[in-house]
Amino acid sequence: MMFVCALGAEGALRIASLHPLLSDMARQVGGTEVEVVDLFPENGELHAFEPTAAHVSAAAGAQLVLACGKGVEPYLNDLRDSLPAGTKIIELGGAVPTVYLPGTRIADPHWWNTPSAMKRASRTLRTALAEAAPEHKESFASGQKRYAAQMDELAREARLAFSGIPQEKRVLICSHAAMNHFCKEFGFTAIAIHGIAHESEGDTASLAHILSELRQQKASCLFYGVNESPKVLQTIATQVGAETRPLALDGIYPAAPTYADIFRFNVKNIAEGLSR
Ligand SMILES: [Zn+2]
Repeated sequence: MMFVCALGAEGALRIASLHPLLSDMARQVGGTEVEVVDLFPENGELHAFEPTAAHVSAAAGAQLVLACGKGVEPYLNDLRDSLPAGTKIIELGGAVPTVYLPGTRIADPHWWNTPSAMKRASRTLRTALAEAAPEHKESFASGQKRYAAQMDELAREARLAFSGIPQEKRVLICSHAAMNHFCKEFGFTAIAIHGIAHESEGDTASLAHILSELRQQKASCLFYGVNESPKVLQTIATQVGAETRPLALDGIYPAAPTYADIFRFNVKNIAEGLSR
């Protein structure tokens, strides 16, 4: 459990965050005018995390609580009920357009996997910060502008890295359905071995179906989440003659602590995995 309760500058706006990438965004947009408390445990699993009483008390001192939204935090209503009346929960993914799993009406909640969605979320954050601390409005506006420029640059880098991948190789096969926002933005087709959260085991019929689809796609690389066991995927990969590579699907990878680090890690693995 990691609570970073650093002694911030006096008068800094206290923010609690339910996802490391939102903490990173808040520090970049808010600068020295904010003090960010990370509620998410260092080696936590996004789809299994639930705040405990200790998290609730850490969040209780904050004016704002940052959440991903889009159903990522099914506990959000309970958390809201547990917090003091003045604490606002901001769902930063709220303004990001919904992207569905191919051929379904099931929304992919992993919106942070595209810089354009992060840029949009940073505007929601800027508005929330400016409402909470209007005296720092201009500082938040310039912080958001810098953040947005960085997101544009990351998207440019990705397009360049992917430019050599031919259309027929632009199929991103992942352990769980986390890359639909990404695939839509960068021109890939998303295939997921399991559903939204990766605990589901899948059954034999669907495994046979997946194997036949992967053979049809001539898959050269399958991608698993950095915080997942790659075993199941490696077994499948061996059967279809593909390799496996990790991606930070849930945006949580302590070895790559900022959004830029995580996004570049994903781009590099995708570009290398699909270029072979
Ligand atoms: Zn996920």
